[in-house]
Amino acid sequence: MADDASPTEDVDRPADGDRPDDRSGPDSGHRPRGNDTAAGNVAVAVVDAETPGNVGTIARSMKNFGFSELLLVDPPELDPEGEAYGFAGQAREDVLPNARETTFDDLVGNYHTVGTTAVTNEDETSHVRYPFTTPAALADSLADVEADTCVVFGRERVGLTNDELARLDQVCSIPAAADYPALNLGQAATIVLYELRELTLGETQHPDERHQRADERAVEGLQEQFDAFLAAVEHPPEKRPKARRLWRRFVGRAHPTGREATTLRGLFRRATQRLDD
Ligand code: SAH
Repeated sequence: MADDASPTEDVDRPADGDRPDDRSGPDSGHRPRGNDTAAGNVAVAVVDAETPGNVGTIARSMKNFGFSELLLVDPPELDPEGEAYGFAGQAREDVLPNARETTFDDLVGNYHTVGTTAVTNEDETSHVRYPFTTPAALADSLADVEADTCVVFGRERVGLTNDELARLDQVCSIPAAADYPALNLGQAATIVLYELRELTLGETQHPDERHQRADERAVEGLQEQFDAFLAAVEHPPEKRPKARRLWRRFVGRAHPTGREATTLRGLFRRATQRLDD
């Protein structure tokens, strides 16, 4: 039993039910490519996974972040009724059944390979796990090169061996607590793939404009209204410049929306009128 999340039902499944593409199966020799970007394709490999649940978790994360090519080196049996499919969510319909069993040699020979590990070397006296990059920096560097890349994850208990890591082109490590940097395999993959999502996702479920800031006149109107309010409450005149500056900085940090600015201004106006009556 994998020690990570429990199998989950698809509570968030979109109402229109996005059916998987009709992709070719693992035997066709065709590599499913769901994330062709200028940066090239990014595949995910798992070496010698012990628990099918972790393979399912990784397949699900891949689908969440726009990856489709899953390569398995010495995988456990993936029973369609078992944990892998139970943990995979909607990836049970495409990423997981399209996973290709392969060899470590195939990864090394056909991809720009990035090994992931919790354990890094301190300095240049050993190059097996040094230099290393963080997932975020890896995303930046891969954005500029057109290379078919494979991010390689290791065994739950012992990770990738030194011999394996020595054959891979780059090393990537998630910064974590010094006394316990080894994440659960599925969670490590989720973090790495989240950081690499810029290479794969043209768009996310979020609207483009996340924060609709009030226009400048409305924001400046808040300053004027605050001024009138200070006068109405008879704030000591010598303290008003400081209070005004405080308010300007406060509003400046908040970038209020149009509705926030209008509502706040209206409330200050009402308070000022009541005090003046
Ligand atoms: N001691 C092992 C821990 C294995 S954890 C090691 O050398 O990494 C199982 C797998 O999860 C690792 O092979 C790696 O692929 C991934 N992983 C766990 N923690 C990670 C971290 N901090 N950074 C990058 N990958 C990590």
